[in-house]
Amino acid sequence: MSILNINVYGIVQGVGFRPFVARCAEKYNIKGSVANRGSFVEIFAQGQEAMLDAFIDEIKNRPPNRAVVLNVTVEKVSRGEFTDFVITQSEKEKGDIFVSPDIAVCEECKKELYDINNKRYLHPFINCTQCGPRLTIMDNMPYDRERTTMGVFPMCPDCEREYTDPSTRRFDAQPVCCNKCGPEVYIIGTRLKGEQAIKTARKEIAAGKIIAIKGIGGFHLCCDAKNSMAVERLRTLKARPTKPFAVMMKDIRVAERECIVKEGQREYLDGWQKPIMLLEKRENSTLSPSIAPDNISVGVMLPYTPLHLLLFDYPDDIRISDCLVMTSGNVKGAPICRDDEDAIRELSGFCDVFLSHNRKILIRSDDSVTDWLYDKPYMIRRSRGFAPLPFALHKANKRNALAIGGELKNTFCLSKKGLFYPSSYVGDMEDIRTVKALDESVKRMCDLLEVKPDVIVCDKHPGYNTSSFAEELSKKLGLPLIRLQHHYAHVLSVIAENACFTPVIGISFDGTGYGDDATIWGGEIFVCDYTSYKRTAHIDSFKQCGGDISAKEGWRIAAAVINSSSLNASEVCRELGICTEEERTIIERMSSLGINSVSSTSCGRLFDAASAVLGFKRASSFEGEAATNLMYHALMYEKRSCEYDKIPLSCENGILSTNSLLTALAIRKLNKEPVDRLAYDFHANLADILTKTCIGIREKENIDTVALSGGCFQNSLLVRLCRERLENNNFKVLLNSLLPVNDGGICLGQAVYGALKEE
Ligand code: ZN
Ligand code: FE
Repeated sequence: MSILNINVYGIVQGVGFRPFVARCAEKYNIKGSVANRGSFVEIFAQGQEAMLDAFIDEIKNRPPNRAVVLNVTVEKVSRGEFTDFVITQSEKEKGDIFVSPDIAVCEECKKELYDINNKRYLHPFINCTQCGPRLTIMDNMPYDRERTTMGVFPMCPDCEREYTDPSTRRFDAQPVCCNKCGPEVYIIGTRLKGEQAIKTARKEIAAGKIIAIKGIGGFHLCCDAKNSMAVERLRTLKARPTKPFAVMMKDIRVAERECIVKEGQREYLDGWQKPIMLLEKRENSTLSPSIAPDNISVGVMLPYTPLHLLLFDYPDDIRISDCLVMTSGNVKGAPICRDDEDAIRELSGFCDVFLSHNRKILIRSDDSVTDWLYDKPYMIRRSRGFAPLPFALHKANKRNALAIGGELKNTFCLSKKGLFYPSSYVGDMEDIRTVKALDESVKRMCDLLEVKPDVIVCDKHPGYNTSSFAEELSKKLGLPLIRLQHHYAHVLSVIAENACFTPVIGISFDGTGYGDDATIWGGEIFVCDYTSYKRTAHIDSFKQCGGDISAKEGWRIAAAVINSSSLNASEVCRELGICTEEERTIIERMSSLGINSVSSTSCGRLFDAASAVLGFKRASSFEGEAATNLMYHALMYEKRSCEYDKIPLSCENGILSTNSLLTALAIRKLNKEPVDRLAYDFHANLADILTKTCIGIREKENIDTVALSGGCFQNSLLVRLCRERLENNNFKVLLNSLLPVNDGGICLGQAVYGALKEE
């Protein structure tokens, strides 16, 4: 008979871990104790050798659904014998902290929610150890009720009993509450509460109104997704002409009726994280066409809070749509609203009614958005349900880093002893409100995870708000500041997610980033590893004229490229409807005189230009619109055929002749070739020249791993075409999966660099 001291690290708090350990102890006839140490769960186990082995094996390999076991240490100890197995109370200790993301409402709670005999019948805040809010309500570790925003709702004796009884589903589930003691929903500005409030919200939605709803991580704007008038009205109010809206569907059956749900997607769609997934619309979809115009897919999610379930299904006589628009409740560029004050100030112009509640949100958490590629998620926005799950790169443990991330789609990342915690989505830093949210969020996460950074990393761009924020913070904390090139950070984030420790050919096809030569970069090919990079090749440069506007108006890039070609520019621009002669000459003059024009190798702008040349979109009303439309047309062609014309492109002196690709397309468009085919040819030829370039680099450098990174690779067709060609040429291809390939992922690359950098 021996006694072991077992420490379990990971997400082991608020997920029913201790009762699970107690059940295992009973199963293997083990005596001892289990306690929450804040940073880990500590177990004393006394029993027979074989039983102890089985006990540890079960803890390691079959933990409760929501737990994540990262590490288990076992040590023999000598101490007094135990006579039974007990769960002891929490004591806060310092150490490695793992914070659980918020968890979607579970099946058992769902059943109780609609069980008329249950005391939580129709309770909008029902939860258990397996589900409910976590990160967004946490004030401090360890995860105890007083340290969450549920602290202000004292439990009724009944809830208290469940909370303290290890045999219930709610033992130690901090947000436990019921109709008697829980928070309440209400309609802002009225006396309507609880049942009345929910019925009002349902009635308004059914009547085609727009309502703001407070959820787990912030407010949503909601309306009937089948009612085109309502959807169009929301578009007008939000000044959002075409950007797709996410749709919440009543259940998986509705999702399958409206969209094609592939194997594997189903599990994710209906799993505990409940992200928005991009699904292909069915032809007979009943959604309003205004939901995702000119788009093959639509963003779909399933209800993830009890309140969502109640909105779809409530015992009243209101008939409600089974598809609801659920779009982030924010002003363009600003962070998602998280309290009534914010919501009233910022959303009043967008909605008719506010359905709110009095459980406070401490950390914002937008919905995560994911595409699907090679039978895996392909993350577009990593936030609720995912943040702050860490990525492990144990070798990168020299220093703890705080990486501030990029300017757009900002997320930041904290590292601690080789574990990297990317934050929830923060937003676009051009808006000063978002910078404030970043500041708050950084402080809160440093506290929660008990991280004291040794170094701060930010983007190299001198004009970014994130750069000045990082500068100030580094001065205030007296910490060194590293400014890292944007596209190198992109590549690092891919190799870090794949824990790759060999040099790679890093491709960064991206929008805008500040280059080492102070021009705009974004079509870059590096040879690099975690400590250094060499810009080996890049796409052909062109002039971006007009400052910020040139990032939105692809016709400007198209005109500049055609102006500098051997074509008759004024004829081509006119014939293709790229721009007027006046506009074309302005671009010509700006480029040649260098007025408000910058040299650029941005691949994102190349896509915009191609979209303008082929007559799809001259300009974008949201980021990536022109490029998405180009992909949409190429995908339409791909459904029929994969044939394409090879355009002879070269890579001499490290310059990919991508401008010739544009002019070749222009000529073929003038010859009236079908545009869908040309859109496909653009993608295929770009993938060809990229592959050819990689082969050239392999011959010199002897590197056969290629990492694909940057926002352009959100284009799944481009990823597929590149990967196929590279693999056919015996390259190993690294892609992101759970980390966004866009600027939302660069914080990991920055953090890894900072953590590994020698002083
Ligand atoms: Zn539950
Ligand atoms: Fe980027």
